[in-house]
Amino acid sequence: MPLRFYNTLTRKEEEFVPLRPGKAGVYVCGPTVYAPPHIGNLRTFFFADILHRYLEYRGMDVAFVMNLTDVDDKTIRGALQKGVPLDEYTQPFIDILFKNLDTLGLARADAYPRATEHVPGMIRLIERLFERGLAYEADGSVYFDISGFPGYGKLSRVDLSGTQRGARVADDSYEKGDVRDFALWKAAKAEDGAVGAVWQTPWGPGRPGWHIECSVMSMDELGETFDIHAGGIDLTFPHHEDEIAQSEGATGKQFARYWLHGEFLQIDGEKMAKSLGNVFTLQDLVAHGVKPSSIRYLFLTAHYRSQLNFSFEGLEAAGQAVRRIHATRKRLSEHRMQMEADPSDEPRLHHAAEEALGAFARAMDTDLNTSVALAALNEFVTRVNSRLDSLGTRPITAAEQQTALDVFDRIDTVFGFLAVADREEVVDPELALWVEERLVMRQDARRRRDFAAADVIRDELAARGVVVEDTAQGPRWTIST
Ligand code: AMP
Ligand code: ZN
Repeated sequence: MPLRFYNTLTRKEEEFVPLRPGKAGVYVCGPTVYAPPHIGNLRTFFFADILHRYLEYRGMDVAFVMNLTDVDDKTIRGALQKGVPLDEYTQPFIDILFKNLDTLGLARADAYPRATEHVPGMIRLIERLFERGLAYEADGSVYFDISGFPGYGKLSRVDLSGTQRGARVADDSYEKGDVRDFALWKAAKAEDGAVGAVWQTPWGPGRPGWHIECSVMSMDELGETFDIHAGGIDLTFPHHEDEIAQSEGATGKQFARYWLHGEFLQIDGEKMAKSLGNVFTLQDLVAHGVKPSSIRYLFLTAHYRSQLNFSFEGLEAAGQAVRRIHATRKRLSEHRMQMEADPSDEPRLHHAAEEALGAFARAMDTDLNTSVALAALNEFVTRVNSRLDSLGTRPITAAEQQTALDVFDRIDTVFGFLAVADREEVVDPELALWVEERLVMRQDARRRRDFAAADVIRDELAARGVVVEDTAQGPRWTIST
């Protein structure tokens, strides 16, 4: 059965045919690092994680890239308010982000490009747009001339009829009713200089617009044409529409081939958003006693293109479901054969295993239908339990036991909540979060060269049995017993 995705570009579910057989290049718009991510942001990164893992489950060699937006209107405003340079302001949020990704069991990407590290590429792309007559300067800023790009609007299908030629918008975010030439580059303002967010260009000092950042980071990592571009549904317009215009306008080639968008996490019928003040962070939830494995499960219960309502009752139910599946796998793995099975006996779980993996793959092949795939796993759990409950004279064979255990392991390479639950058994999540917060503070202290503060934190950690090892990827920790 072919793998199919709903492509926002065509508004159809289509077979996924990668550019190069057996390989897939995926770019997902990552967070703006001006605050810790909230659980709504994490739902979008989780959706991208399931996409990443399922492509690998399908045997593909995946290049998975998630960027960090570390220079934009919001990070500059934050740094200015705190009175620190931009990179000093964003670094603690980047550290928290990675801790959150680990806590939720999100597989590491192949690259996490930062916008501030790709500015020369942005300047070159803008130069190409000038050469093609698609960019123009106004008051030291540079704008994209949407009237020069006939494909403008093809992703979001915005109404272009009322568009006034030459009307401009400088903000990174604007509404669908506000289709105008958008900023590729913004002339330097005093506040940009105050936080060290100014780069020199042939058309004067300034900083990039948000959209050009993703065009450049994705093409730098994956090539001018690549397979899949993903992100939250709100990014369709203007962010992704503008990415297409800039990229295809400059290269003359198709940019991303499949566009996948994840729906919002809602709370009380509204989008969870920092601007609405209704957000929970992962830290808030863990402090309430929520297990990260329950969050993974809750996210899987809804299709990524459906809204999902956040509630503590929903998390409670998800936690129960995780416990049932986790306990069944344990029961199966700890089961010791009482007597030699008769080899002529039908290995009944083989059948159930085949059915479960088949149903799982069919559901996932259908635009990553995780809720149906989850039902296949739950049905399998029921069958394993009833097999263990009524062994009678038909004991499980070693092969049967192994085949059934493999189902849990194979499915969990994608779902991932059993691996997270395994870790939670060893380390209490609240302690884990406490440790991780301290490690962020310790790194922060070291960066400020406040070694006394770093030592105090190290002693606090040691007092609770935490052993820290510093590696090239950052600190790793364990609890000494
Ligand atoms: P930001 O850090 O604001 O740039 O957002 C990072 C990602 O989170 C984007 O892909 C957004 O579309 C996504 N996002 C923001 N709010 C929500 C939400 N309530 N539910 C799901 N995704 C969201
Ligand atoms: Zn982006």
